[in-house]
Amino acid sequence: MSALLEVEGVSKSFGGLRALSLCSLSVQRGSIAGLIGPNGSGKTTLFNVVTGYVRPDAGSVTFDEKSITGARPDEVFALGLGRTFQLTRIFARLTVLENMLVATQRNEGWLRSIMRAAASPAEQRRAMELLDFVGLARLSATKAGTLSYGQRKLLELAYVLVADPAVILLDEPAGGVNPTLINEIRERIVALNREGKTFLVVEHNMEFVMGLCHQVTVMHQGSAIVSGTPDVVRADPRVLDAYLGGGEEEDRDDVAVG
Ligand code: ADP
Ligand code: MG
Repeated sequence: MSALLEVEGVSKSFGGLRALSLCSLSVQRGSIAGLIGPNGSGKTTLFNVVTGYVRPDAGSVTFDEKSITGARPDEVFALGLGRTFQLTRIFARLTVLENMLVATQRNEGWLRSIMRAAASPAEQRRAMELLDFVGLARLSATKAGTLSYGQRKLLELAYVLVADPAVILLDEPAGGVNPTLINEIRERIVALNREGKTFLVVEHNMEFVMGLCHQVTVMHQGSAIVSGTPDVVRADPRVLDAYLGGGEEEDRDDVAVG
């Protein structure tokens, strides 16, 4: 087993607020890793650091044995690290297919591509294949703004796949999504993982995380406090403390930290 993505000792403050504090985490090649923790514990900030949207104050990010610390989002994306956003970033007035065609150009300055009249037939074919994969092909001519929340999440997943990334970071893929579509999303992740894609998934839906992920890391106040299989994480008293304790610091002399 080797780590495909490695975060070591990452810290990030916004003004006086310490969003990440010596946070370390590794994601094994070919695995589905989960990242959980209370609201405000730093999960999205960690995604932002890994994908180049936020520059860390300290620490390092290594992807496929190359340092990507401080790299720009487009550089990180071009190297094979794709992500979706907690709040989806689709273009509401473009159709579903047009959103995909914008995505095909993202790694070479996607804003410019909006001005482009047409994508190549090969790009269009690929976009339709991916829409078919996430079950949105029949909606390809629909304005993306009319999609349900779950369908937007599926569209985001499809357009991340355009770049054929090795690692996909999903920020709350099941958040606000109805149960039927949650299942769809889960099945797509499993299918992609079988093809060799590695995932790091932030999600509040515990059933989703525990059923899907091989390894789960728990964040609390900007640090990764526990990492292990779903069973190990479930049984660790520090995890419950993180969720119940909120922002308060407590003495935990009775808990062995290993
Ligand atoms: P999570 O995704 O686990 O809910 P976040 O990473 O979004 O947590 O936030 C961690 C902390 O950092 C929160 O207190 C949040 O308000 C703060 N934070 C995140 N991004 C910024 C930013 N760009 N500017 C200021 N504070 C931020
Ligand atoms: Mg978040």
